[in-house]
Formats: sequence, structure tokens, C-alpha cells
Amino acid sequence: MKEAALTTGPAEKQDANGPAVTPPDVSADLSPDLQMPVDLLGLSFEELEAVMVAEGLPKFRARQVWSWIWRHGVTAFDDMTNLAKSVREQLSAGFMISRPRVTSRQVSSDGTIKWLLKFADGNEAETVYIPEEDRGTLCISSQVGCTLTCSFCHTGTQKLVRNLKVEEIMGQIMLAMDELGEWPATQDGRKLTNIVLMGMGEPLFNYDNVRDAMLITMHHEGIGLSKRRITLSTSGVVPEIFKTGEDLGVNLAISLHAVRDELRDELVPINRKYPLEVLVEACRNYPASSNSRRITWEYVMLDGINDSDEDAKALVKLIKGIPSKINLIPFNAWPGAGYTCSSKTRIDRFSKIVMNAGYSSPVRTPRGQDILAACGQLKSASERARRQSTRA
Ligand code: SAH
Ligand code: SF4
Repeated sequence: MKEAALTTGPAEKQDANGPAVTPPDVSADLSPDLQMPVDLLGLSFEELEAVMVAEGLPKFRARQVWSWIWRHGVTAFDDMTNLAKSVREQLSAGFMISRPRVTSRQVSSDGTIKWLLKFADGNEAETVYIPEEDRGTLCISSQVGCTLTCSFCHTGTQKLVRNLKVEEIMGQIMLAMDELGEWPATQDGRKLTNIVLMGMGEPLFNYDNVRDAMLITMHHEGIGLSKRRITLSTSGVVPEIFKTGEDLGVNLAISLHAVRDELRDELVPINRKYPLEVLVEACRNYPASSNSRRITWEYVMLDGINDSDEDAKALVKLIKGIPSKINLIPFNAWPGAGYTCSSKTRIDRFSKIVMNAGYSSPVRTPRGQDILAACGQLKSASERARRQSTRA
């Protein structure tokens, strides 16, 4: 079972130009604070069963409580009507079912919603909901900031970094489901049909918590989202890629962005530790990929940097034999980024070369740009304010 009230501290940010790419220890400090109730959003089904037994209650109570939390979105024990009043009181005394505190909520002209959340220790992370005609995708964060320093990514410039706890990852999903009126979770016409781990942070640097949170999300007696509707995006933390396929079987997206080591070392610094050859081999062996479940290669289009015909041809060569689709992402600018987006003609030309080689190559439409909610633009408001005041 998890301890109550996990407290956390900031981790040192790595230097963008330094060789270090090993994740620093940004895990939560597990020192218990006996004053705080245990948050049930952080527990697996088995851990919830253990809680019931430790409380002297029958094990089957866990199934009932689980369903209230994850199928019905209940946050008050008093609303769990099939539990005796004494049991509800007992649980209320030592446990809670949290929701993150919303610092700001913005709605884009295209319907995209961005929430800025503040956690108990004051750290912040962002969650974005993107409605489309045939689906609704929730883009969730796995860390506060990111220890990696991809040169084109706004999140990578954030100084404070820590891993999000299971309850903080799940809290993002629950908050969105509350707001979208998704309870009970199995109802027809769901608005939240897909989840992408493409918000702030590198999910594979917070592997255990991300894995536990996704197992809760997929649990058939709760939210019950299929692994086919979950996509995990990584910059290329090779040792965890195989485990992701084995433990979760979710869709895999790789932030490729360059097809030569020299350039990728600069754009995606983790490449210095896990170069292209090793990364591509890990994807070739990804247990959950097939012709119907292809690996997505994300490729940000940077004017004059990685967008030539030669790059497109080398890309096709690099992924040969792997069931793949290539997602071309127009670069989303942010203040002080130092890059510009490739022209539309260049992106079309690049896409054509990739398509002619037999790969699907959609160009991702940026969403929520007016509220800085597009890929790579996320960064907490407190960090933005800090930067602005430093500049002033
Ligand atoms: N850390 C993970 C997931 C979060 S980033 C990863 O890197 O895969 C989600 C995607 O947005 C990644 O492909 C990332 O490279 C891309 N991205 C980052 N900054 C961007 C920007 N300014 N414009 C467009 N895409 C960006
Ligand atoms: Fe981190 Fe991903 Fe941004 Fe790179 S692109 S800095 S890995 S969030």
C-alpha cells in the first residue's frame, strides 16, 4: 500500500549542452505524513483490496469502492450507497478521493480545453482536451516540467521538475471526465475516447507511476479504456520501451525529429545516450506493434533544419520494415524558441516523399494555439511568470 501524503522536492535541471541524459531522481519522497488521509486515486485494485483487509473489512468491499470511484466518478464516501453507514464513516476517517486543484481553465476558439493544475506542494502541470469529429483526446502530463532539454520544446525549458504520482496522473483524467459528464464511464457517446501521454514530461522517466496509472485506466471494472486508445509518446528511453509493450501493450509514438545522429543529438539530447540505431531496433522489437497497430514517428518540421528531401528519404530508409506511420508536426512557436516552422510547400513535399514510400503521413493540425495548448507549448504559468519577471 502507498503511504499517505507524499511530499516532493525539486530536482536539479540538466544542462542542455551537457552530456548527462540519465534521469535524476525526481521521484516522490515517500515519507509518510500521518495527518493526511490516503488518496484512493493512487491505488491499484490489489492495493485497494489490501486496504480493506487492513481495515478489518471483507475483501469484496474493494470491488464496490473501486466501481464507485472509477466507474461512477464518486468523490464522497457518503455517496457509496451500498456501503453501511459505519463503513462509510470508517473510510472517510482515513481516506480520500481527490481531484486536482484547477488554477486556470482556458477554452480555445477550436474547442480545445487546457487546464492548469496545482498540486499539494504548489507544483503545476497542464492537461489538454482536444475534441474532434470522431473522437475526443485527452493529452496528459507525466511530470512537472521535463528533465530532458529538447531544443525546440517549451516544456524542456522549465526549471522545476518532478515526477507526477499515480493519483496526480489519474486526477487529470478524472477531472476531465467530471467536466465532460462522462459518468458512468461505460455510457454510450463518450466524449473522452482516447488518451495520449504527450503533455509535460517524459513518461518513461516516470515509468512505474505511468504504468500503474494506465493499468487503472484500462481496468475493466472502472474506466475501461482499451489499450488501443492509449498512446505513449517517448523521446526514446530505450530500456523502458520493451517493458511498455509487455506491461501495457499501448500504442507507441516516438519523438524522432531527426534522422542523423549528429542533428538528433542536438534536437533530442537523449539521443547521445540511445542513438538512432539502438532506438530503431527497440521499436522493431516492440511487442504491441503490428500492421494494424503501427508505431507513430513524430517529426517536428523545423525550417532549414530537418525538412529537406534528403531527410525525408533517409527517414523512409531508417524505419524500413517496421509497421509505421509518420506524424508530421508543424513546429509550434513559443517566445524565444529560436526556430521557425517549415513552409507549407516544404511540409507537403516532405509528406509526399514519405507517402510515396508507402507510409501514411498526416500533417498534424495544431490545436489550441491561441491558448498555448499545442504540442511542445506547455509550461506552467508560474514558470512563465518567473521567466517574465526575470527578463523585466
Ligand atoms: N516527452 C515526450 C512526450 C511529450 S512531447 C516526448 O518527447 O515524446 C509530445 C510531442 O510534441 C513530442 O513529439 C515532442 O517532440 C513534440 N513537441 C515538443 N515541442 C514542440 C513544438 N514546439 N512544436 C511541435 N511539437 C513539439
Ligand atoms: Fe521533454 Fe518531450 Fe519536451 Fe523533449 S519533447 S523536452 S522529452 S517533453
